[in-house]
Amino acid sequence: MEEKEYLALEHIKKLLKDNTIPPLEGELAELPLLQDIHNDLKAIRETVYAFSMGDLSPTIKVRGIIPGCLKTLQAHLRHMIWQVQMVEQGDFLQQVQFLGEFSTAFNSMVRQFDATLKTLKQKEEALTALADSLQEEVDSRNSAVEALRESESQFKYLASHDPLTGALNRRSFMDRAIIELASCINHNISCSISMMDIDHFKQFNDTYGHQAGDEVLRHIVTVISSLLRKNDFLGRYGGEEFIFYFSHVDRGTSIAIAERVREAIAGSPVKLKSGPVPITASFGVAVLQDSENPEENNDLETCIHHADIALYQAKKGGRNKVVCFSKELAEIL
Ligand code: GH3
Ligand code: MG
Ligand code: MG
Repeated sequence: MEEKEYLALEHIKKLLKDNTIPPLEGELAELPLLQDIHNDLKAIRETVYAFSMGDLSPTIKVRGIIPGCLKTLQAHLRHMIWQVQMVEQGDFLQQVQFLGEFSTAFNSMVRQFDATLKTLKQKEEALTALADSLQEEVDSRNSAVEALRESESQFKYLASHDPLTGALNRRSFMDRAIIELASCINHNISCSISMMDIDHFKQFNDTYGHQAGDEVLRHIVTVISSLLRKNDFLGRYGGEEFIFYFSHVDRGTSIAIAERVREAIAGSPVKLKSGPVPITASFGVAVLQDSENPEENNDLETCIHHADIALYQAKKGGRNKVVCFSKELAEIL
């Protein structure tokens, strides 16, 4: 073998084996066949190197069986990358066909993804349905509790108020007044009880009817409610009799307040369809811890009894009056 041929073969061997591409120089550079082989192998080496580094971008221009196979591999790998991207976007129908065991493992992994995701979705739907039904249950319980609270407060209201006028009923007035009176006695404060009775109410009913009489009772409570001070309160004692508690008042103030209520009632005729009809009421007042009658009224029962005596005197004295209880009054009886 000629030396030139030997050098050419050695150059090809270097092209195949060396880490760096040997330069084609000197007399070897003048051999056109070697130049072709050099260029082809150089291009193939560069492409394979790029592939090995994960770069599938090189355009393979060389022809032949090896570049052809590289092109096919490049196309397959690019397609596979696209398929992985499709799987990433949720397309679990993708299947890799060309990579033997990798294809089998990849396809089975995608199927498992698909199955796991379907199971997760079913569980999520079941959880959502459960959360919805729980929410419905909570809502219906909340509205049941709300309805119970409402009916409880309605019940409490009905149990403590007179249904016709909305004033406190007798029992509830008495419960509250007993507490207030006890507190006044403890703190040595005077207060008073006043009984009020509508004048000639029987006659009113007989003239205008019972319904008009009911209207009077409601009307009077409305008039009184607008006059009462914050800590005073009113109860329907029975029929057309009402009872007041006046807090922190002496004899003079008690009479003044009762007078104010009396005047307001007398000044507000009830408006019936047939026209306005004047209404009057009489008042009996009894003061608890009254400086003018010490030790006289020291409990609710006595106060009410004394207020009744005073009311009787107011009626006797001509009605539409306020009379305050005193020892002398008791002696007259
Ligand atoms: P006096 O001035 O002496 O108080 O005379 P009076 O007619 O008001 O007294 P009497 O006790 O004779 O009559 C009270 C009347 O009150 C009799 C009753 O029919 C009426 N009355 C009691 N409760 C109600 C009620 O809820 N509605 C109506 N419309 N009338 C009632
Ligand atoms: Mg009466
Ligand atoms: Mg009356």
